[in-house]
Amino acid sequence: MARTHVNCNTLFTGLEDTARQHQRLIIEDGVFTYVGPQDSAPAIGAGEEVIDTGEHFVMPGLVDVHTHLVFGNAKSEEDIDLHVSPEFRALRGLFFTQHVLAAGYTSVVVPGDAGQCSISVRNAINAGMFTGPRIAASSNVISNRQSLNDWFPSWVGTPEYFSGRLCATRDEQIAEIRRQAKDGVDLMKIAMDGPHFRPNGEHIAAFTEDETRFMVDEIHRLGKKVAVHAYGREAVLYAAKAGVDVIFHAFFMDDECIEAILKSGSHVAPTFTMLANNTEFAEPYEASTKSGYASMQRRVIEAGCRNLKKAFAAGVPFMTGSDSGFAITPYGEWHAREIEILVDWLGLSPAQALRAATSVSAKMMPATQRVGALEVGRRADFIRVDGSPLDNVAILQERQRICGVYLGGRRIEAQVPGYDPNRVSDFNTVKWSELHTRQRAVEMGKRTLSTLNRQ
Ligand SMILES: [Zn+2]
Repeated sequence: MARTHVNCNTLFTGLEDTARQHQRLIIEDGVFTYVGPQDSAPAIGAGEEVIDTGEHFVMPGLVDVHTHLVFGNAKSEEDIDLHVSPEFRALRGLFFTQHVLAAGYTSVVVPGDAGQCSISVRNAINAGMFTGPRIAASSNVISNRQSLNDWFPSWVGTPEYFSGRLCATRDEQIAEIRRQAKDGVDLMKIAMDGPHFRPNGEHIAAFTEDETRFMVDEIHRLGKKVAVHAYGREAVLYAAKAGVDVIFHAFFMDDECIEAILKSGSHVAPTFTMLANNTEFAEPYEASTKSGYASMQRRVIEAGCRNLKKAFAAGVPFMTGSDSGFAITPYGEWHAREIEILVDWLGLSPAQALRAATSVSAKMMPATQRVGALEVGRRADFIRVDGSPLDNVAILQERQRICGVYLGGRRIEAQVPGYDPNRVSDFNTVKWSELHTRQRAVEMGKRTLSTLNRQ
């Protein structure tokens, strides 16, 4: 098998604190067989390919552990669950893999969607039918009555095509877990809490500590990973004690939670990007602002920064997720903002944040997909960046700085044609956003007071 030799003036392995100079990568069968100084590299054979990366900064392809690949940049829960068939969601997801790739993200973890959507996208890519990022796929989010994904009233329930699956009893939980394992997920997501609070404002966990342990043990027994959504102290604590692989958010964790996480070896993916975008970009007329969601998130950010800083200082390992797939976090746009947030809000060094976004986040990928670092034995997924993210991590959000994306040593040109968002998503039937009284018509200058009085 012919080898490919990549000369790198500046190389960041994803495992260290600094970049190395004058390095060479050698790739065979899509895997690194040499990573080290050019001086001591094995000789280049006749006819073998040599890639010169010039002044580019070479680093591992980025990993986002929280991208909702099939949500279609949704504006509402109805957008996610009601208006689009699972088949269309999968096709749409396949389309948006290109936007993710073009942003330098060569691996994504998809935490929760209906049926076989992300599984199908993953299988089509793995079969070589399409070129796309490596995908860790999941199925429905395991939910309970107090969970995030049990969005709709109890009389609606959770039909099969919803992204959440109501599992209110142990029997239902275990049956759902075994169904998902059979269908070939890489991970399962449990919604450990949601918008349910005690009178003192504390989040209520949707599952008991016992139930959580029971589910996580069964998922691990079946060889799958577990991600959980948990804002509140109680949910974080139960998840950590049960030994889940990654906790999304963990904003209200306390010292007991931190201790439990350190003991179990769980990771935390703050996934602040969605909150940051929402508080900064949502306009006053948008439902997100009017409903108080944005101002609630502002308070969550304050508490979250405090607690997450403490956790990182105590040694809790961070991963990076963006919650891409919503209208406030469109695909390919904001994935790398999370890296900037880890530096600016939580005080990580650029190298720490880059490791979080590469080698640490890669731990959520299937064991067969060893990625996330430039290291012998790992798959040769890497990117070329114009400029050093070690000097300024924010440059990773500038598309023109991502000068080359390689999967298994092969350069990929992602296809990102323009598209009409109204034909891809946003099929809501909402027709009006305010109450059109006669008084309001006058205020808007559509009617005059005299026409009103005549009536
Ligand atoms: Zn999410």
